Amino acid sequence: MTTMFHPGDAGFEDELAGFQTAVRRRPDVIVAATSAADVVEAVRYAGEHDLPVAVHSTGHGATVPFEGGVLITTQRMAGIRIDAEIARVDAGVRWAAVIEAAAEHGLAPLSGSFPGVGVVGYTLGGGFSLLGRKYGLAADQVTAIEVVTADGELRRATPDTEQDLFWALRGGRDNFGIVTALEFRLVPVTRLYGGSLQFGPESLATVLRAWRDWTAEMPREMTSSLAMVPMPELPMVPEPLRGKHVAQIRIAYLGDAAEGARLVAPLRAAAPVLGDTIAEIPFTKSGTIANEPPFPHGYRADNATVSELNDAMLDAILEHAGPDAPVPTVVLLDLLGGALSDVPEHPGVGWDRKARFTVRALSVVDDAPLSEIRSAHGKLFDALKPWSTGKLLTFVYGESDPAEEAAKVYSGADLRRLAKVKAAVDPANRFRLTHNVEPAPDAG
Ligand SMILES: Cc1cc2nc3c(=O)[nH]c(=O)nc-3n(C[C@H](O)[C@H](O)[C@H](O)COP(=O)(O)OP(=O)(O)OC[C@H]3O[C@@H](n4cnc5c(N)ncnc54)[C@H](O)[C@@H]3O)c2cc1C
Repeated sequence: MTTMFHPGDAGFEDELAGFQTAVRRRPDVIVAATSAADVVEAVRYAGEHDLPVAVHSTGHGATVPFEGGVLITTQRMAGIRIDAEIARVDAGVRWAAVIEAAAEHGLAPLSGSFPGVGVVGYTLGGGFSLLGRKYGLAADQVTAIEVVTADGELRRATPDTEQDLFWALRGGRDNFGIVTALEFRLVPVTRLYGGSLQFGPESLATVLRAWRDWTAEMPREMTSSLAMVPMPELPMVPEPLRGKHVAQIRIAYLGDAAEGARLVAPLRAAAPVLGDTIAEIPFTKSGTIANEPPFPHGYRADNATVSELNDAMLDAILEHAGPDAPVPTVVLLDLLGGALSDVPEHPGVGWDRKARFTVRALSVVDDAPLSEIRSAHGKLFDALKPWSTGKLLTFVYGESDPAEEAAKVYSGADLRRLAKVKAAVDPANRFRLTHNVEPAPDAG
């Protein structure tokens, strides 16, 4: 018997809780799925009662508030199997569990900065990994997706079967159904030269330029991001950084430590270093590189992909999101390129492969009213517009306008193809409590 929670039931609020606390979702019923059969039952129930359906795994990526409908939670679907270099994971698995399981086989997944993120949500959004410049997107390594579509059928999408669905899910996410299991290739990685360098507020402008210049010559084995962070006055923050606006350069290098140290040397020399954790580490410790806060909170984030990072752009980033900005903002700059720009034989949709960097801005909603955060982020991305090449849905966090976002993320041709696939598998738009692509059988 499937477990269901209705508003007022003991357990309803706990089942709804997730990492993101600032997006209000009030379903009529929550189905706590333990298997693909439970997901089938929940989707059929929604069909019989003409209700929309949403999905929740860890809540890291919750963006669309809603009232009513059926919410399927997947956290109890936790199976992992590794067979040769292929992992098969159920819908509720987080990266931490795959990292541990893969390490026993001398392998690693294309996981990201925070191991608590869910595998399915991350991968369906593209999946920018710590190993991304060498091995590409997590979505590019997917070999099969099992998904329950609006008709209540469990389908298997692969490069050879349900090809349109296989394309649309990897980027179109829960517009097309509820994924019950994912299969993907692992890569032969056990160790990294990785960690972060921290710099103080007086060095921000120098460090931004030094990192930008340094990225120009990096091999594919080097994946790196720069974070500019207003550090809270909390005991968990090391004393020299506490309460300061710091720059943090994150390094994940796939090679030996001596060569890694040689590549990182110009960064270590760029400005006075307040903290340096870069060392050879097992991949199982890869979450320590970014060391992101593990506790649930409310946050709002937007992003743009860009073709370059010139001085005018760096100045705009400092002005609109630096220490003197009106709203405390974390900025993340990710170096793209390498395998992230390669187009695989079976690509998904919605990832900007031509971009050279992402610029992400994130603010904690307790720090300022949402309207001020939106306005501050808006000014930053307006200033970057001349060099902006697109946007990534997976780095939109917190409340946002669903239809507007879809139009910014997908090209016109991709949006028309998505609308056709949607019309084929979800003509009544049952999966609409998301950044929705509306069904349009005759699009394009
Ligand atoms: C602290 C933090 C660090 C992050 N680091 C990275 C990173 O390094 N690289 C990166 O690429 N991304 C990163 N992300 C973004 C993250 O990948 C997305 O937010 C992702 O959507 C989270 O998925 P989830 O399942 O954990 O979250 P949830 O909020 O539970 O799900 C988010 C969305 O994923 C989709 N989804 C989840 N489960 C299913 C399913 N079974 N079927 C269909 N759709 C489903 C749905 O669209 C859902 O709305 C990070 C996010 C945070 C908050």
